[in-house]
Amino acid sequence: MKTRTLRRSLSYGHTRRGVRLVIVLLLVFGVGNSLWGGDVAAAPVGPSASAAEWSALYYSYGQQLREESPTAAATSCDDLSVLVDRSHTLPSDYAPGDLVPLQDYGVPTLGSEVLRREAAEHLGRLVEDAAVDGEELVIASGYRSYEEQKLSHVRLMSVFGAGAALMSATPGHSQHQLGTAVDFTNAAAAYEVWGLFAQTSAHWWLEQHAWEYGFVLAYPEGKEDQTGYEWEPWHYRFVGVEDAKRLQQSDLSLQVFLEREGTMPRC
Ligand SMILES: [Zn+2]
Repeated sequence: MKTRTLRRSLSYGHTRRGVRLVIVLLLVFGVGNSLWGGDVAAAPVGPSASAAEWSALYYSYGQQLREESPTAAATSCDDLSVLVDRSHTLPSDYAPGDLVPLQDYGVPTLGSEVLRREAAEHLGRLVEDAAVDGEELVIASGYRSYEEQKLSHVRLMSVFGAGAALMSATPGHSQHQLGTAVDFTNAAAAYEVWGLFAQTSAHWWLEQHAWEYGFVLAYPEGKEDQTGYEWEPWHYRFVGVEDAKRLQQSDLSLQVFLEREGTMPRC
């Protein structure tokens, strides 16, 4: 109760002087020490504390408030290492702010696909280098909004029934909503998104090289129990070159890697 009162006072007191006044009053009435936990309790304050000491105390208490506040502590869904899976959901209103048309980066697409800028830049280089090696890569699907995922999921459910759950994420649980996931296809796979892509040489090229451009296979073969999804040889997610490299060197699935090192989508 006292903490709540203090927080209210702090949130309304916009000047440092006002905050100091609140702190002084609390200390005078003997409740101060019970409010500061951990590091803040060690702040060198007392009747003779200097302005710098008060300032440090104010700063560290502000830090504590920010860490405790649910909104301030929330990591951004823009973080490349946000974990999105069956139990970690994205808010329905989340949409990345830097989506760009893939065609602007020389990436062939089946429709007018968009992706976040950094992912699009790396994908442009990936597709170009694959072409130099004689491999055709086309994007069948990039960013999908919450609403688009909903439609796509309902469509699959109507065709495959409950079995669609293994192939398609429910709205809010799709990596496509992050704007960093893509589905590859090509002529050899009849420009479809399906298992035939696994038999193409472009698929092998991706398995060898995608990580060099920051992309990782999100749902690998043999890791179904970890990811909750069937093997999707066409579905890659951009996590940045550094993390893709570390993931490549480990034997972890993206799922487990992000559980250990990623961030939760409290955004
Ligand atoms: Zn996909």
